[in-house]
Amino acid sequence: MADDLQEKITILSGAAKYDASCATSGSSGFKGKGDTFGATMPTGVCHSWTEDGRCVSLLKVLYSNVCRFDCAYCVNRVSNDTKRTSFSPKELAELTVEFYRRNYIEGLFLSSGIFADPDIVMEKLIETAKTLRTESGFGGYIHLKIIPGTGEKMIREAGLWADRLSVNIELPTEKSLQYLAPDKSKKAILGAMNDFTGLRTEFEEDRRKPKFLAQGKTKEQFFAPAGQSTQLIVGATEENDFQIVNLSSSLYRKFSMRRVYYSAFIHPSESGRKVSADSRLPELAGPPLVREHRLYQADWLMRFYHFSANEILSETEPFLDTHLDPKTAWALKNLDFFPIEINRADYETLLRIPGIGAKTARRVLETRRSRSLSIDTLRRMGAVIKRARYFITAGGSYIEQPDDPLRIRRLLSDTDGAGLQLPLFEF
Ligand code: SF4
Repeated sequence: MADDLQEKITILSGAAKYDASCATSGSSGFKGKGDTFGATMPTGVCHSWTEDGRCVSLLKVLYSNVCRFDCAYCVNRVSNDTKRTSFSPKELAELTVEFYRRNYIEGLFLSSGIFADPDIVMEKLIETAKTLRTESGFGGYIHLKIIPGTGEKMIREAGLWADRLSVNIELPTEKSLQYLAPDKSKKAILGAMNDFTGLRTEFEEDRRKPKFLAQGKTKEQFFAPAGQSTQLIVGATEENDFQIVNLSSSLYRKFSMRRVYYSAFIHPSESGRKVSADSRLPELAGPPLVREHRLYQADWLMRFYHFSANEILSETEPFLDTHLDPKTAWALKNLDFFPIEINRADYETLLRIPGIGAKTARRVLETRRSRSLSIDTLRRMGAVIKRARYFITAGGSYIEQPDDPLRIRRLLSDTDGAGLQLPLFEF
């Protein structure tokens, strides 16, 4: 591989590192996997999880880190003195295919700095994806960023070649957006999300019509089948969790968002790269990772356990408890909802019990058709009895009555949130 291409990968994968919207974890490269790249292979591969929980590897890069915008939190901002470079669509398509053939990746996550008008930037991303699909016969996963301000025509085209599209909401309020990312506009961001939603509906309706097949299209031709997602930076501005959770709830509702990703604010100076100071940013000891984790759990409650944002938080209690998962926190505040008799409760009620997730709730319903349940059976089904014990009865008897909520809170607390992972588990 040419040195300049190697350098481009180093710069443009490093520059893409802080976009969380492909559920990433940084890779340590391809050590020991091949002779061409060896131990010097730069970070460029992230791990992402599919809807069914499968872990996939993606090449995560920017098309270009040349950017006209001046977002305070970003190493690529125009006011930062950093080395700039860009791929060409052909170069990037060839690189993706090469990585794919070597089994390093299963797909591409592609974003870009705003080096020109939004339509021109979007055109380059589309050209890369189109080259991959039409010239290289690439069938792997492609996630493209929508450049806010680009027209509906471009989004329509992008959705034909990409599995997923995303546009980052970036910050919870317009005021914060104006403060930290003054070149971005909430109207353009929401407009792109809205265009996506309209196009998805249009394609879904079209696919049901005979005319769709008559146009030479196949039923397999979807518009961005993996839907749209977005990313929100947490902790760079003053908004509370109540505002964030409400915003996410409305994004899921209005734009059928597949995922909202929360990205704990990392000060650019912690990126390991030379970054000029920006007085708009807060000085933090480190990224607020526990807060990010609790927001993912609250998000999980809304998406899978059917909680509303207002049940999780309120204006008077606007922050998630850093020591307690939000489902247990809700249960302790609503003790009059409990105990739940596991031999009678419906699915929705079972989902409210700490320690019982969707999978276990379904198993409970199935098993109950033939026999009644004991605590031991419930444990064998996967329930976390350590959590559930204060909130359930089996055949009318409690394991332990929740007489002292403060003591339960102490017993169920995570002491410091250390080692917390994304909530891929049930809770
Ligand atoms: S638009 Fe903002 S966040 Fe995106 S690359 Fe440019 S400076 Fe960074």
